[in-house]
Amino acid sequence: MKRRLVTLIGLTVALSLVLGACSTPAAPTPQVVVQKETVVHTVTAVPEPPAQPEPSATTFPRDETLYIGGAAWGPPSTWNPYQPGNLANTTGTTGLLYETLFGYNPLTDELTPWLAEKGEWTDATTFDITLRKGMTWSDGEPLTSADVVYTMEINKQYPALTYNKMWDYLVSVEAADDTHVTFKFKDPLYQEIQNNLYNIPIVPKHLWEGRTEEEITVGANENPIGSGAYLYVEAGADRNIWQRNENWWGIQVFGKPAPKYIVDILTPTNNAALGMVIKGELDLSNHFLPGVAELINKGYVHSYYASAPYMMSANTAVLFLNTKKKPMDDPAFRKALAHAINTPQIVNVAYAGLVQAASPTALLPSLSKYVDQDVVERLGWTFDTAKAKKILADAGYADTNGDGFVEMPDGTAFSLEVTCPNGWTDWMAAIEIIAASAQEAGINLQAATPDYGVWLSAHQGGTFDTTLQNNINLSNTPWTAYNTLFNHPIKDQMPNGNFGRYENQELWDLVDELAKVPFSDEAGMKEACSNIQEAMLTEVPMIPLWYNGLWSQWSDATWTNWPDETSAKPTVPSTWNGYWQLGGLQTLINLKLKAE
Ligand code: MG
Repeated sequence: MKRRLVTLIGLTVALSLVLGACSTPAAPTPQVVVQKETVVHTVTAVPEPPAQPEPSATTFPRDETLYIGGAAWGPPSTWNPYQPGNLANTTGTTGLLYETLFGYNPLTDELTPWLAEKGEWTDATTFDITLRKGMTWSDGEPLTSADVVYTMEINKQYPALTYNKMWDYLVSVEAADDTHVTFKFKDPLYQEIQNNLYNIPIVPKHLWEGRTEEEITVGANENPIGSGAYLYVEAGADRNIWQRNENWWGIQVFGKPAPKYIVDILTPTNNAALGMVIKGELDLSNHFLPGVAELINKGYVHSYYASAPYMMSANTAVLFLNTKKKPMDDPAFRKALAHAINTPQIVNVAYAGLVQAASPTALLPSLSKYVDQDVVERLGWTFDTAKAKKILADAGYADTNGDGFVEMPDGTAFSLEVTCPNGWTDWMAAIEIIAASAQEAGINLQAATPDYGVWLSAHQGGTFDTTLQNNINLSNTPWTAYNTLFNHPIKDQMPNGNFGRYENQELWDLVDELAKVPFSDEAGMKEACSNIQEAMLTEVPMIPLWYNGLWSQWSDATWTNWPDETSAKPTVPSTWNGYWQLGGLQTLINLKLKAE
């Protein structure tokens, strides 16, 4: 805990410096937080802070410009919407520039018609989409069903593209006319399809059809032409600049986004970002800032909730257990560890109340209707060292050599690691708590912080003991969480989930059954989830711990009417890649210039 104490002292000093620097340039301060979240399936590496950014050659009228930060952690390198892993540094490529057929509002759990005016299943295997009329690309060409068909066809043609897997059960995509598209499926995965509907970026056929496979799959797509509310203007090493598309088809439907310009800044440190928000130089920061509660309480910055946890939950932090190694192959040991971990201390001390403890089902609060509370009450766990010790003793784990830690039932001593990447200070504090509380229960668990690359290859390659990951993100379906946790089959590399390589064909089948339940059958979805949760909470293949927040703080010095818990129709205050179509763009439409 010593390291954590140093961190907290450093934080207090850092915040004092920032607060004291309101009217003067922020003094250089130690970087207190470096972990970032994205909605892509892997957590992006945290780069070294860049050198002091060059001032932009262009200046923008303050009352027409929205300054944002917190999505990018490196220089822009691609505007290809089919490179989702690299789009964090050009957030808005999908959402501001390229658009999707639907949006999704995680606050109301509703799909929002976007390029599509409507979509309906006309029978069990046929999905008909009606596009809006009069849509155009920003070069003036019409956006029609031909673009939708082309987009789906390139995903069929090139296995490297994100949605190629859908073609395992997609038979054809055909246009009846300019605004009607029919998808024909064979044994459809309804849960995946409905998730894809708000994630597949539609690209312009007339500009892409002459491109090579390399250009489509890995090309940077410089000077992109999209259909969305903003136009690409320019990008520098530390910023992306977007300008409102005055001819955007959506102005008539959704309204006009308030800012004429968006300047997305790569801030050198989280503290620098915080100082910029306090001074009103940055309008919206999507950085994680421990201790920000004090600043929110004093009104220096604003957040979605006025009190703890201050921010919405965005993803679930899960302790993955390598079930291919002893003793993590033993469900009794796993359940004992689940009881041993002092999650309240992680929430209240490591995060100072900025996060919430997770449901043992791993589902985010936005999907709480799919949590079977009866299963949780019967099989769930709470922090209880005595109970952890009892489960271990009952299963034959005892300290036979007198070193203070239990040995395996056959007498073999063991020492395990719990890991996270070095430099991710909030997670580093969390794994110290996980290790210390496991040791209290007699489990020899030690915290270790390898460099990011070492950590990533260990958890994808299955050589770790126990490790944190957080790739269960906001979604319209519980299937995405369970498809991640129980990703199968087991391969040499597991980049997309099930890092602990938990093998259980019955449970895998339950996840696959959920994938095939239509959204119209909510009772069926609940039943499928209940079956998964019964098995999951019995077996404890991994331990969901807390919900990372949708880190978000803003200033109302220039722009007001930000979404918060009191809004009549709240939207998501986020600039992260993947969040524009979750309501982020609507947030820009709702903004108002502060009254003079
Ligand atoms: Mg011992």
